[in-house]
Amino acid sequence: MSWRSAGLGGAFLLVAVTVASAQPAQPDPVRDKVRAYRAAHEKEIVGELDGLLALPNVATRVADIERNADHLTAMLERRGFAVQRLSAGPGTPPAVYGELRVPGAQRTLMFYAHYDGQPAGQKGWLSDPFKPVLRSGPPGPNLKDIDLQSVTGPLDPEWRIYARSASDDKSPIVAILTALDALRASGLQPSVNVKLFLEGEEEQGSEHLGTILRRNTALLAADAWLLCDGPVHPTRRMQIYFGARGVAGMELTVYGPLRPLHSGHYGNWAPNPAVELAHLIAEMRDEEGRILIPGFYDDVRPLTVAEKQAIALMPPVEAALEDELGLGRTEGKGARLQDRLMDPALNVRGLRSAEVGEGAANAIPTEAQVSIDFRLVPDQTPQKVKDKVEAFLRAKGWHLITEAPDKETLKAFPKVARIAWSLDYAAHRTDMSLPVSRAVATLVERAAGGPIVQAPMLGGSVPMSTFTDILKVPMIGVPIVNHDNNQHGINENLRLQNLWDGIEVYAELMAGMGTMMGK
Ligand SMILES: [Zn+2]
Repeated sequence: MSWRSAGLGGAFLLVAVTVASAQPAQPDPVRDKVRAYRAAHEKEIVGELDGLLALPNVATRVADIERNADHLTAMLERRGFAVQRLSAGPGTPPAVYGELRVPGAQRTLMFYAHYDGQPAGQKGWLSDPFKPVLRSGPPGPNLKDIDLQSVTGPLDPEWRIYARSASDDKSPIVAILTALDALRASGLQPSVNVKLFLEGEEEQGSEHLGTILRRNTALLAADAWLLCDGPVHPTRRMQIYFGARGVAGMELTVYGPLRPLHSGHYGNWAPNPAVELAHLIAEMRDEEGRILIPGFYDDVRPLTVAEKQAIALMPPVEAALEDELGLGRTEGKGARLQDRLMDPALNVRGLRSAEVGEGAANAIPTEAQVSIDFRLVPDQTPQKVKDKVEAFLRAKGWHLITEAPDKETLKAFPKVARIAWSLDYAAHRTDMSLPVSRAVATLVERAAGGPIVQAPMLGGSVPMSTFTDILKVPMIGVPIVNHDNNQHGINENLRLQNLWDGIEVYAELMAGMGTMMGK
C-alpha cells in the first residue's frame, strides 16, 4: 500500500518496544511441521525471494513490471495455480491473479500483496537495491555481508536481506507460496480454495485498481481478503489490523496585495495573508488535534465494544516513542496513540509565505499557502469532508476559487482563497466480531504461539475501502515484516525471523480457515 504516510515510511511506528512477558509457545502440529520444512529449506526459500527481488519493479516502467509478472506467473504455475493477468488496459500495470481450487474446500481465502515497489534512486544504499544482499543485522556499525552459498547449517534468524521491496512487499508473496509448499510437503492440504491477487501499481496510488476489481468481481469473490502488507507491531509481536484510515488532500492559497508592500508604510492597513492564514488554521484545528470545523465529526462511526477492548489490550508504545522522537508533550492530553488514530485528523503537511530568516524582507507578502492532509475514519467520505470544509470557509467569509485570481476578483471580495483537492479514498473498518475476523485472529495467534496485537484500524491510509466497496468482502490485514525495515527509504531490509514467522502464519490460515469458518 503506498501507505500514504507523508514520508513516514508507511503508517507504522518505527521503534523497538520490548514487552516483558513472552509466554512459551503452545504446541501446534501444523506450525511445527511447517517449521521443520522451513528449517530444511531455508536457502531455497531465500534464493527464491532473491530471484524475485532482483527484478526492478517501479510501476511507471511497465516493461519491468511485465517481467515481474512473468516471473510471478511461473512461481504460481509451478505450484498448480491457474494464473491470469488482470489489466485495466494496454500499457497499464497488470495484477497477477492466481487460483488454486482445493478438492472438498467450501470456502475461499484471497491473499493480497503488491509486487511493485517504491523508486530506489536515493543516495545511501549500501548496495544495488536490485541485487539482494544478506547481511548480519539491521543497518549500523559492524554490519557484515553474508555469502549465502557458503553458509552451512541454519541461517541466523536475525540476518537480514537488503533490497527494494524486501519488506514492502515481495517477501509476503514468497511466504504465502512457501506456506503452501510446506503444507504439501507435510502431507497437509489447505482447507480453503486459495486465491492470490498481486497488484502491480500500489506504490503509484493504485490508479487502475478500481477498474480491475469492477471488471472481475465474480473471479475475485472470496470469503475474506487478507492484506499481506505492512509491518508487525513494534513490540515484534504479530499484529493483525481490521481497517485503515482514508485520506484527502487540500491545497489552500490566500491572497494579499498584488505586490509585496513595505510593512512600515502599509502594516496594520493592507491585510497580511500569512497572518490571515495562521488565524484560519487555528480556526480549523486546535493544539490538541481537535478539528473545529462544524459537523466534521458527524459521520464518525462510534467504536464497537470489540474495538474498544482491542485498543485497551494493545501494548503501550507511547513512552518509547516519546523518547525516540524527542517529544516533550503529545496531543490529546495524554491519550494513547491508538486512541488518537481512531479519530479523523487534520495535518498541516506544509506552510509557505514569502521568506524567513536571512531571505526575509520587511514586507507584507502577496500570498500564503498551506498544504493539508485529512485522515478520514468510517463513515466519513472525501466528498463530505470537502463539502464541510468549504462550507466552513465560506461561512468565515472566504470567497473560494480554483484558478489564480485576477485583480477584479481580489478587489471584489475581502478574503479570497484558491482551493484544490485530492479526494483519494474513504476509510474502512472490518467488524472485528465477525466469525471470519475471529477465525483469522485465532489462527494467527495459534501460529504465533501467544498473544498478538489486534488493531481495529491503522492510522495510515490504504485503499481497503476500494476493495470492500466494490467486492463487499471482509478485509483483514495480516502483515509479517519487521517494523524497522526502512520501507520506502534506503537500505530496505527483511529480517529472516519475520519471513519464517510469516510462512507459519499463512500456512496456519490456509490449513485452518476452512474448518474455522465451517460449511
Ligand atoms: Zn506496501
